Amino acid sequence: MRPKSVSLFSALACLVVVPAAAHAAPFDPEAATQAYLATLKGAARAQSDAYFEGGYWLLLWGTLAAVFADFILLRTGLSARFRNWAERVTKRRFVQSMLYGVPYVIISSTILVPWTIYTGYVREKQYGLLTQGFGDWAGEQAILLVLNIIAFSLIIALVMNGIRRSPKRWWLWGTGMAALTMVFFIMIAPVFINPLFNTYTELAPGPVRDRIVGMAQSRGIPANHIYVFDQSKQHKRISANVAGIGPTIRISLNDNLLKRTTLSETAAVMGHEMGHYVLNHSLRLAIGFGLVFGFCFWIASLVVPGIVARWGAGWGIRGIDDVAAWPVYSIVITILILAMTPVKNTLIRSQESEADAFGLDVAREPDGFAQAAMQLSEYRKIEPGPVEEFLFYDHPSGRTRVRMSMEWKARHLADPRPK
Ligand SMILES: [Zn+2]
Repeated sequence: MRPKSVSLFSALACLVVVPAAAHAAPFDPEAATQAYLATLKGAARAQSDAYFEGGYWLLLWGTLAAVFADFILLRTGLSARFRNWAERVTKRRFVQSMLYGVPYVIISSTILVPWTIYTGYVREKQYGLLTQGFGDWAGEQAILLVLNIIAFSLIIALVMNGIRRSPKRWWLWGTGMAALTMVFFIMIAPVFINPLFNTYTELAPGPVRDRIVGMAQSRGIPANHIYVFDQSKQHKRISANVAGIGPTIRISLNDNLLKRTTLSETAAVMGHEMGHYVLNHSLRLAIGFGLVFGFCFWIASLVVPGIVARWGAGWGIRGIDDVAAWPVYSIVITILILAMTPVKNTLIRSQESEADAFGLDVAREPDGFAQAAMQLSEYRKIEPGPVEEFLFYDHPSGRTRVRMSMEWKARHLADPRPK
C-alpha cells in the first residue's frame, strides 16, 4: 500500500508540479530568439537572403560602373572640353570649377542610366519592394539629378580650390570642407530636400501620438511636432528617421509603419529614433564620415599626381590643380570608398546598435522591437555570419536585434509594463 500511495502521490504531485515548473522555468533569450527567427522561413527567407546578398555584388559592380563613367570622360577628352567651356564663360576659377560640375554630373549620370534603372527600378520590382510606376520613379531620379548637380558643383569647386591653394596639404582642408558640406546638407534636408519627394503632415491625435509624446517627454525630447510622410507611394517598407541638425532636427515616421505595425512595434521603432536624436547621431556621423573622406582625400593627394604626370597630357589635363583632372580624383576616391565600406558600415551600425539599446529602455517593448526587426528582414538577410555582418551591414541584422530585445526582456521580466 505504502509504495502505491507514494507513487500515487508522486503522480499527483507531477500533475501539479509540472505545469508550475514550466511556468517558472527561466526565460531563455536564445530560445525566444530562435522562436522569432523561425517565423521567417521558406521562400520568404530565401528571397530576403538573395536580395541582400545580391547587394554585396552591386557594391563592386556599382564602383566599377562609376569608374568606367569617369574613365570615358577622360579618354574621350570630354573632361577637358567641359573645362574649356567653363573657361570661356567666366574668368573666376572657383566659378569655372562649379560650372564644370554641371556637364560632368549630367554626362556621367547619362552613362550610368542603364545601371541606375537596373538597380533602382528593375531589381526592386523583381523583388516586389517598389510600389512606384516607372514614370514616378524616373521623375524622382530627375529631381535627384538636379540635387547632384548642385551638390557636386559645390564639392568640386571647394576641393579644387583647396588643391590650388595647397597642392600637398589640401586633403586636410578638404576633410573640414567635406564635414561642413555634410552638416549643411543634413541640416537643410528636412526643410528643402525631403519635401521634394514626400508630403509631411502632423501625426493625428490618438493613441500612437500619445504614446510617442509620452516617451519623448520621459527623455526631455521636444515633441511639439511629429511628422508622418507618405512613403507608401514609393515602397512598402516600414521606416522612421531623425533628420536635420540643430534647429531643423525632427523625428518622422512613414505611413507604412502606421499601417503595418501594432502600437507596440511603432513605439519600439520610435524609441529607437529618439535614441538617434538624444545621442546626437547626425552630428557624430557627419564628423565620422568627414574623417573617412579625409583619409580618402589624403591617399588621393599621394596617388593622383603620379597618374596625371603619366597620362594627364593625353587626356588634355594641365596639372593636378586643373578641374579637368576631377575624374582622376573621382576614380581614386570611388575605389577608396569601396575599400572603406566596412569602416563606413561599422560607424553607422554602432550608432544603430546604441539607438536599439536606447529604444528598448525608453519604449520597454522588447517583443514590439523584435517583431519590427522581423519585418525589416523582408529586405535584410536575417542571419548573417559574424564576418558578413561586420563587412556588409550598416544596421544590426534581424538576429542581432531580436537577440538584444530578448536579452533586455530577460533582464526586465519582473518590471511592470509601461502605461
Ligand atoms: Zn536607426
